[in-house]
This record gives sequence, structure tokens and C-alpha cells, in this order.
Amino acid sequence: MNLILLGPPGTGKGTQAKLIADQLNALHIATGDLFREAVKRGTELGVRAKAYMDRGDLVPDEVTISMLLERIEQPDAQGGAIFDGFPRTLQQARALDEALAAKGSEVDTALHITAPDDEIVRRLSGRWLCPSCGAIYHEQTHPPKQERACDKCGSELHQRDDDRPDVVRARLEKQRPPAEMLDYYRERGKLVDIDGARAPEEVTKDLLAAIERATAGVSN
Ligand code: AMP
Repeated sequence: MNLILLGPPGTGKGTQAKLIADQLNALHIATGDLFREAVKRGTELGVRAKAYMDRGDLVPDEVTISMLLERIEQPDAQGGAIFDGFPRTLQQARALDEALAAKGSEVDTALHITAPDDEIVRRLSGRWLCPSCGAIYHEQTHPPKQERACDKCGSELHQRDDDRPDVVRARLEKQRPPAEMLDYYRERGKLVDIDGARAPEEVTKDLLAAIERATAGVSN
């Protein structure tokens, strides 16, 4: 079984991918994790990828694709995987299809988690930090008792530069799944849109139902 999870940042895609992998006892392959490991180990790949990652840019296709193709050749990946954060370009989508076809396999379904831009910006830009004691707050999930003041030490809370709404919007533009890649899966009858602007458990339920439909061979 090969499943793809697509979606902009801030839709809970990574969390959902892990949950589903656990539930289905499937392998979870996240290219972001593979890059972060390479950076930590200081490999050539890591050094190359880091500059792009630091800017919030995509790592070039040839680097990303060869890393992913190497990963799916490993023995533990022979039963398929849940791909999280890959593909992010049309070229990556084509490369994955070719590699799977060579193994007599294919992508069963591409699950596209969506949310309105305003909701994504609200989620991603809601983080506030205390510059004195380091406490972290979030407007929705963990608000301070008094607006902009630290519960622990009373200092005025600050927002990180890259959590500011204008910066988050710029990141969103760079990291949004490109239309031609979504069309690629849509034209092949593989794309399923899942509304991600709901409670996480409801999103999980819908994802699992879509996977069951796809793997039972029923068209969506
Ligand atoms: P993520 O954890 O999925 O947000 O990925 C972290 C960073 O790794 C991204 O901002 C990109 O710089 C890089 N990255 C991860 N997956 C890909 C991909 N499929 N194509 C290009 N760059 C990627």
C-alpha cells in the first residue's frame, strides 16, 4: 500500500501521517525527517539541504528524489509506505510513480488535506514566547491568562519573526502543493480532498475512510 499525504504547512499533515501509520501498522516516510537526520549527522546531503531548509525553500528535485528513491529501496519499505512531505513537485510525483511502477506497484491514493489560508495563518502565527523565562504559548491551544503577558514571570510576550502573519503567508506561498501536481493525481483519479479545518480526530476518521475506499478499489 502506498499512500501520499499532501497539503500546505499548518494543516496537521505530519501529525495525521504518524497517527495513520500507527493505526495501519505502515511505514511512515517523511522527507523532512530524512533531511533533518542528514543535517544532524552532518552528511554531504545534510550540508546541501540545510541552506534551503533554513530559508523555507524546497530542496532541489534531484537531491530530494535520489534521497527518496534510496529510502524506498530499503528492505523495510518493500510493503509500501505513507509518504509525508513527498512529493512536493510534479517532477517528484512522476519520479515516485516510475520507481513504484518498476516494482509493480503504484500510489493507491493521494490524500490532500486542505484548510483556508486564514485558518492556516491563524494556526501558524499564534505562537508567543517569553523572552525572559522561555515559556511558549499559543493563542488557540495554550493562551496566557493575560493577553501578551507571561503566566510564569509576567514579562511581555514576543513573537518570533518567522511566526509573524506576513512571514507565515510568504512561507505558505512557497510550500503550497503546486496546482500541476494536484492535477496530476486528480487526472489519474487518485486525489481525495480532506477538510483539515476541523478537530484532528475527525480528520483522521475521514482519512482512514478514504484509504479504505481507495484500497478496496472503490472509486472516490
Ligand atoms: P517538512 O518537515 O516536511 O516541513 O520539511 C522541512 C524542509 O525540508 C522543507 O521546508 C524543505 O526545505 C525540505 N523538504 C522536505 N521535503 C521536501 C520535498 N519533498 N522537496 C523539497 N524539499 C523538501
